[in-house]
Amino acid sequence: MIFDTHVAVDWSARSQPSPAKPAADAIWIGVVRGGVAELPTYHRTRAAALEAIAALIWEDRVAGRRILVGFDFPFGWPRGLAAHLTGEARARDLWRWFAGRIEDAPDNANNRYDVAEAVNRALPGVGPYWSKSHRDRWAEIPFTDLRDGHGLPRRRLIEEQVRGAKEVWQLAGAGSVGSQAILGVAALERLAAETGAEVWPFDTGLTVPEGDAVLAEIYPSLFNDAVKTRLGDGDIKDAVQVAVTAERIAQWDREGTLASLLSPTVEQPEVIAREEGWILGVPGAVASTPKLSNDCFALPPGVDWTPVDEALERLRAGLIPIAEVEQVPVAQAGGRVLAVAVVARRSNPPAANAAVDGYAFAAAGLAGPVRLPLAPGRAAAGAPFDGTVPPGHALRILTGAVLPEGADTIVLQEDVAVEDGAVRFEARLKPCANVRPAGEDAEAGAEVLAAPLLLRPQDLALASAVGVDRLAVRKPLRVAVLSTGDEVVEPGSAARPGAIFDANRPMLLDLVRRWGYAPVDLGIARDREGEVRAALQRGAAEADAILTSGGASAGDEDHISALLTAEGSVSTWRIAVKPGRPLALGMWQGTPVFGLPGNPVAAFVCTLIFARPALGLMAGAGWQVPQPLWLPAAFEKRKKPGRREYLRARVRDGQVEVFASEGSGRVSGLSWAEGLCELPDDGLDVKPGTPVRYLPFEAFGL
Ligand code: AMP
Ligand code: MG
Repeated sequence: MIFDTHVAVDWSARSQPSPAKPAADAIWIGVVRGGVAELPTYHRTRAAALEAIAALIWEDRVAGRRILVGFDFPFGWPRGLAAHLTGEARARDLWRWFAGRIEDAPDNANNRYDVAEAVNRALPGVGPYWSKSHRDRWAEIPFTDLRDGHGLPRRRLIEEQVRGAKEVWQLAGAGSVGSQAILGVAALERLAAETGAEVWPFDTGLTVPEGDAVLAEIYPSLFNDAVKTRLGDGDIKDAVQVAVTAERIAQWDREGTLASLLSPTVEQPEVIAREEGWILGVPGAVASTPKLSNDCFALPPGVDWTPVDEALERLRAGLIPIAEVEQVPVAQAGGRVLAVAVVARRSNPPAANAAVDGYAFAAAGLAGPVRLPLAPGRAAAGAPFDGTVPPGHALRILTGAVLPEGADTIVLQEDVAVEDGAVRFEARLKPCANVRPAGEDAEAGAEVLAAPLLLRPQDLALASAVGVDRLAVRKPLRVAVLSTGDEVVEPGSAARPGAIFDANRPMLLDLVRRWGYAPVDLGIARDREGEVRAALQRGAAEADAILTSGGASAGDEDHISALLTAEGSVSTWRIAVKPGRPLALGMWQGTPVFGLPGNPVAAFVCTLIFARPALGLMAGAGWQVPQPLWLPAAFEKRKKPGRREYLRARVRDGQVEVFASEGSGRVSGLSWAEGLCELPDDGLDVKPGTPVRYLPFEAFGL
């Protein structure tokens, strides 16, 4: 736990004290201390509420506890305002600017419109503040949204992310937060000065704060569904809302997610941390791209032949996810990698409902043959019955309908006789029979999809079912493909004798595409240093990773290795694998380069075995291990120990066949194959019927 006490405050911009009898338009404070929820408290004025909050902070501090206090108003303004008014793009300077101008009396009387008008006056055009309580006062504040030419964004970055969050410029009207923010930061400026509390993220950065008292912006509407469920007759929504919010924050802390919510990865972290702020609890999305280190492919000195498993372990350890994260609508997220776990916004089903067409009733006390008079009305999907089923009665109910009050059990329509306005049946049903309980499928707040996950159609269904409309996904990794070699020419071109048509590039580009990455075609570079350099340069500029084929060994014409050695960094990995030649793994201007063998068969196998998991890791999809099938061999082979072998294979009649020739120049065998047969590092005498590992191409995501 980071904090011992978790507090949620529902702020108010009222100009008079709230009624003596607890009411909605007031300040409510929800407190969870040491994991125990306290009754929400009611405060008639901002001054009284601040005193109570300061007292909470001091009590905790004296007891050596840490406290987090959330307030439901914006802590920052859209980028640009702070610098315009104070000369510095810093929210805390803006807080001081407002605090120096706001007068907020103990009875809530205040001058917020005068101060908002001063803001409008300081900026060109009309606005940005708009809407007011009196049509004919504060001439510089337009009554309706007629703003123009003030030059500031309408929303903060966070308000682009959170559905329903109101802009800070609206001063009056339903749901407006403009007045609350002005009065709020002026008040918190004083609270922070008096108590030494830190303001997240302005004082702390987008990280877990170190201080013992932290103030943060919250948005209780994030928990509307939980509030709705909790709300009973006669409850004041604001009171329930602060209670639920404080409990949820405490829960994050208990479950260990609060730390990541305090350090969200966001697109413009400086703007958010200095100027605009962020709503605690919004997972954040767009990370600035982390970088791979230049020595991520370095091998320890003296390594000679590296076994396949060790090579894979080294790749895995050296690489990190580098693909950026973005938010996309659920319907567009298929095939992308989920970057942030999905939490149910609402339970599914949201309320108990009927699993069948039939009759709903209360089961308690019923046995044997029963006759229940039918209550008037019915419950259908989308048309709930909004009354109570009287005791001893039944109500017509259709599949999917919300279970009405007064009923807990449904009898199938096929099992009853309906006559004279009553149903007769044998009451042998278990209580709650034929009812799908609320949250049976997913509970609100529960994690329903873990990240990373390559999103499939059914995952989109689940996210939608629990009310999630946008997903944080990775941008597709951009992968560049380059062929090298003087002898390599475009298929279709007039081929000199000795020229080889470029088979690798179409193959590699298509592999890249099928794995969901964005291919970048770098063409063919001849064995000239300048050509190879130019191609790598372009690859580094336009892609996140580069696959090259040919020129990967240490011969005179091997410019990939030579260039990477001279101007980047490179390790030559001699992996104990057939087919394969040394892999040149290096960095070119911060972009990883996979120098694959030129031979198409070896290039294909090395891409599947080594490049695929490496790219998957960089793409944020995690380390992918192909799942083998154990099947009897249809062939005979005496394999020597020392290196792993991959044979072009396919399955017929449940047995693994291999391509007639192991010759690595036989591209036709690749096309013939439907998978690879993986023979172990050790020696093996394969006879027909010997179980062998078969890796269908599907296991490689193809
Ligand atoms: P290298 O790795 O450059 O020594 O090339 C090994 C073999 O693969 C040579 O026979 C090359 O001609 C062949 N090769 C290299 N690149 C390609 C390519 N893009 N398409 C087809 N064959 C290639
Ligand atoms: Mg409020």
